[in-house]
This record gives sequence, structure tokens and C-alpha cells, in this order.
Amino acid sequence: MRTIFQNVHVVTVNGENEVLQNGAVEVLDDRITYVGSEPPKDTAGARVIDGKGKKALLPGFVNGHTHLPMVLFRGGADDMELHSWLNDRIFPLEAKETPESITYGALLALAELARAGVTTVNDMYTQNRALLPALEKLPLRATLSMGLFGQADNAQQQLEDNVRFYHEVNGALGGLVRVGLGPHAEYTATAPFLRQCADTARKLGCPLHIHVSETKKEHVECKARHGLTPVGLLDREGFFDDNQALLAHCVWLEEADMDLIARKGAAVLHNPCSNMKLGSGFAPVPGMLSRGIKIALSTDGAASNNSLDLWEEMRLCALMHKGNTLDATAVRAPEALYMATRGAALALGYEDVGSICPGFQADLCLVDIDRPYYHPMTDLVHHIVYGGNSRDVVMTMVAGRVVYEEGRPMNVDLEEVYDRVQFFYDHLFNV
Ligand SMILES: [Zn+2]
Repeated sequence: MRTIFQNVHVVTVNGENEVLQNGAVEVLDDRITYVGSEPPKDTAGARVIDGKGKKALLPGFVNGHTHLPMVLFRGGADDMELHSWLNDRIFPLEAKETPESITYGALLALAELARAGVTTVNDMYTQNRALLPALEKLPLRATLSMGLFGQADNAQQQLEDNVRFYHEVNGALGGLVRVGLGPHAEYTATAPFLRQCADTARKLGCPLHIHVSETKKEHVECKARHGLTPVGLLDREGFFDDNQALLAHCVWLEEADMDLIARKGAAVLHNPCSNMKLGSGFAPVPGMLSRGIKIALSTDGAASNNSLDLWEEMRLCALMHKGNTLDATAVRAPEALYMATRGAALALGYEDVGSICPGFQADLCLVDIDRPYYHPMTDLVHHIVYGGNSRDVVMTMVAGRVVYEEGRPMNVDLEEVYDRVQFFYDHLFNV
């Protein structure tokens, strides 16, 4: 399959952050094969998409931390702080879930993500096998980790099942699906269980995805329990030794935590909207950036956001840290875009994702910039971060395949999905 984009403003997010005015990009099968100012002369067998100077081509967005099926609880657990949100609402609702409701929830989430130009997700959930039928229909690039609750009686079985899931599914859908381990958090695990997860991930060579220092309560209680911060405890239990640790939230990190994360090369998954909505706080992102810590912007689940829109996260990230630190340079627009694309891909361990460069995966989104807020054309990256909107996305492509175009996700009957999730809400959850 061959696609040529021409007369498009190419926001490359490459090493030099180049933006090509009226450039061209060629895609062959799952890869980008050409990026330049002139379109290839030979267009044989290609679908040619002419942006007529009014479209921008961006790398697909990379969402660093999601719980896809939680769209089922969107609007059902608002205006609560994390621990009562989790214990009083989310855990009881999740106990009622069925594999079918999880599949439809995931499908709704994937449709929402594709609509917003998101091409990669890093997800944590419990019944992960039920995510696969949704990904088969709407194939985004995905890392799937099972949420593991290490204090539960069946903790060992959970871990064994995650390992089984790794062997069954890692590399599925033509390599789009990766599997990681997902110990939920320090406060839902024992220290030996965390060590066991770290050892297992090292053996498998898979990512370790965990919630860390999301709330002050969690951070303080961990110190009281273990005499260490959550990051210190994870370090003691081997999370950062030959492991790819993906640390969601990190709101309450201390200076020494950030030094450690930087030294060990772990990645932080930053959730601006969720952290504000749950009243968790402001992650010290400027301090992470100054240390060169890898950061992936993320939405978290839709029950704590309530959308899966990385455009919104970019804008919030660029603004909230300025306001919080009284420093207008705290997070600059290109940094916000980087944390939602190339930086996020590198944080998650995808070497050839997140930039528009020859040889990279053809994960792209096409954006209509024929809108008032993209004029005058001063700096396209700034317009995208500060004024742009996910509703401007007109096409999303994953590994060279179109997954969303002209307002509709491919291969998904949205009306049916809406009906099913409403049915689940009315008859499964809201009873
Ligand atoms: Zn989360």
C-alpha cells in the first residue's frame, strides 16, 4: 500500500524540529519512505492526498498512560479525590465488568483516540484479553499491561496470568501489540511482590508499568511504611536495574527521586488533566525536563479526565507548569508537542515512532489548518499547542493503514458501540 501526501505542512518533530512548508511525505506499507519539499514524480499505485496548503501532517500522538475500558465510567465518578474515587466508585464498578463490556469500552476508547490523532497507547487493565477484539477492529499501536494487585490473595495467579498473556500476545497484530507487566501501585502491593515483578519483567525483557507518587497521601504513607519514597522503594526492589520502568503520575517526587529516575533512565508518564481533576497536584515537570528525564504525556482513563485527548493535555501541560512555577518558560510549546509525540515514543521504548522521518513507522495524523486560529501563520507548532484542537484531525494512520477518516473510525459501527455502552451503563453498572 502506498500513500503520498503533498502540499502539506509537515511538522516532523525530528531532531531539528523542522516544519516543511508545503512539503511531501511518502508512505510505503507500514513505513515512511520519503520526506521532502517535492512529491515523488512517479505516483503509480499510490493514493495521493493533496493538502492544497491547508493541511498539516503530524506524527501520530502517543498516549503514555491509559485504562481504555474506563470510558464506561465516564461521568460516573466525578469530583472525587483519588482514593475515594478508586475505592468507593471505580473498584466496585470494575467488579461488575464482563469481557463483552470491556471489549466495547475499549472500542469506544480507541475510536475516541483515533479521532484525536492518537496512534499509540500504553494501557493498564485487568481483563486484557477482552481488549484484543477491539484492537483487531481498530488497530492502534498498543502496549498492554495487566493491572496486578500484589496484596490480593491471588497475587501469584495474577502475575502468572500476565506472564501467560505476554507469551500469548506479545507481537500480535503484525507487531502492533506489546505486552508489559502492570503492578498497579506501591500501595496495592507488597515489597516482595514488587521485586518479583521487577525480576520477571527483566527476564521477559518487557516494560514495567506502575502508578507512582500520584497523591501526597500515597507518597507520605509509603515513607511511613518503608522508610523510603515510592521511587526509593522501587529502586530497592530492582525496578530500575535492567528494566524499562514506566512511572505514571510522579506528582509528589522529591529532588532525590528525580535524580534517581534520571540516573536510571526510567520514564515518567505525565497526566496533567487527571492530576488536576482528582486534586492530586502538579507534577514537577520543569525539574524533570532540566534533568533530561523521559516524559510521555498521557490522559489516564476517561473516568478521571474525562476525554482521551492529547491535544488538551499538551495545552494544559504547557500552561499549568507556567502558572504553578510563575515561569512562562517552564514548558515551551515545542516541548509539549515533543512529550506527546517523539518524546513519548522514546519514553515507552519505541525507537522508530513519533517523528516524520524516512524509515520511521507511518503513524501519522492529518490536520485541517484552514481554521481562524491557525492564522496568521507565524509558528505552526505554537498554534497546534496553544490554539489547536483535536477536532481539526481529519485522518489518522497507524503503520500505513488509515484508522480514522472524515469523521468516522474505519471498520467500527459507532452507533452500535454507543448503544452497547449505554446498555452496559444502564443494566450492568448503574444498578
Ligand atoms: Zn492510571
